[in-house]
Amino acid sequence: MTTDPFDLDAFRRDGHQLIEWIADYLEGLESRPVREPVEPGDVRAKLPSAAPEHPEPFADTMADLDEIVVPGLAHWQHPGWFAYFPAMSSPAAILGELASAGLGVQGMLWSTSPAATEMESHVLDWLVDLTGVPQSWKTTGEGGGVLQMSASDSTHTALVIAREQARQRSSASAENMVAYASSQAHSSVEKGARVAGYGHVRLIPVDSEFAIDLGQLRSAVTDDIAAGLTPAFVCAAVGTTGTTAVDPVRDIGEIADRHDMWFHVDAAYAGAAMICPEFRHHQDGLESADSYTFNAHKWMATNFDCSIFWVADRRPLIETLSILPPYLRDAATETGAVIDYRDWHVPLGRRFRALKLWFVLRSFGAEGLRDMIRNSVDQAQNLAAWLAGDPRFEVIAPTPFGLVSFRHTDGDTATTNLAEAINSDGSFYITPSEIDGSPFIRVSIGSTWTRQHHVDQLRDLISRLA
Ligand SMILES: *Cc1c(COP(=O)(O)O)cnc(C)c1O
Repeated sequence: MTTDPFDLDAFRRDGHQLIEWIADYLEGLESRPVREPVEPGDVRAKLPSAAPEHPEPFADTMADLDEIVVPGLAHWQHPGWFAYFPAMSSPAAILGELASAGLGVQGMLWSTSPAATEMESHVLDWLVDLTGVPQSWKTTGEGGGVLQMSASDSTHTALVIAREQARQRSSASAENMVAYASSQAHSSVEKGARVAGYGHVRLIPVDSEFAIDLGQLRSAVTDDIAAGLTPAFVCAAVGTTGTTAVDPVRDIGEIADRHDMWFHVDAAYAGAAMICPEFRHHQDGLESADSYTFNAHKWMATNFDCSIFWVADRRPLIETLSILPPYLRDAATETGAVIDYRDWHVPLGRRFRALKLWFVLRSFGAEGLRDMIRNSVDQAQNLAAWLAGDPRFEVIAPTPFGLVSFRHTDGDTATTNLAEAINSDGSFYITPSEIDGSPFIRVSIGSTWTRQHHVDQLRDLISRLA
């Protein structure tokens, strides 16, 4: 057996074997527990204390995938995965990822790999049409899209642009700036604001459906202005992480306009649903948004990482992030005719992420993606209706997308016990959560291989354990 790491004949053979291995893994998931039983340190205890001094055969590495890696996993692609939000993958995405690794290009400038840049701009322009967001967000318009590693990066980027815009307008210091979001907003807003140096983050209380309370938002802004602070950034969540609550986009946009704030929309999870026109009313009013993020890596069949970030106007983004050392000066850039994505996010180097998105769009077609989203939503709404019809349960939030949030009517202890019992059964994994100080159970439907009969089995288990 060869041990030359650059032997392409071996690569062909090993590569085929790895694809077989992945297919076997995915096919066999259902016979495994959704999370392997692992204690801290179990995985490291199986690894040698030093890196190998000499080349090792690929077959040994493959054997260790089975013996060390797989028994140390939570199986996110398991059909019984109902925890957090889905982290979908698909055969096309896996192959697109492999093709991208195979090409191994860096697309930080248009000229460092023109296809990487133009494919990304083009596929994100396609998605403007497919999800019905404003046409001006296309790279052929004033705005444009870029793929980031995560929604947290997208939101952080938006916070930095907002800070620079507010600085130019008012010469305020970041310490005097305020970022607003609801108390149900994702933690990435608070983290991004901290990293960007904001002095203040206001997490505004929510209404009975867990959407931001507009009256409280308005008065917080007024109070902050009266106190000499500068409102700089406001975030609307379309689909909060807790319960998929939807903030009123149009109203928040009006408040943002009135006070010259940057208006960012975080649709990290629910943005994928917008490929179906019937969900778009949830984000009515997007014309006033300055930036928007959604993760193809949650609910659009594309494995992590693949977060879409759109801006309505690309100039403030580029002004904020463009830095030009001599070694990055470039003839194509100087003509102004090309996009250099290094100026659209924090990192310089960037991989060819658009390739897997392109593979996915071609493999499913818009129709296939719409079917997939609609199936998840139907499954979720059926489960929610069943729970609502059983006096043992209370559905605590609307189910606009694929997340069902419920509790046991016997109270907090019964809810916590039920969550624990579901998870210790081993076939399913749900997330125990908490809102307003009381526990509830999140069932997130839409994992890669989840079908109706898996949801039925979960429903029967809930009924048995309650
Ligand atoms: C998942 C999620 C995020 C964070 O996404 P990452 O890509 O992991 O950073 C942000 N906002 C919302 C609403 C989310 O659901």
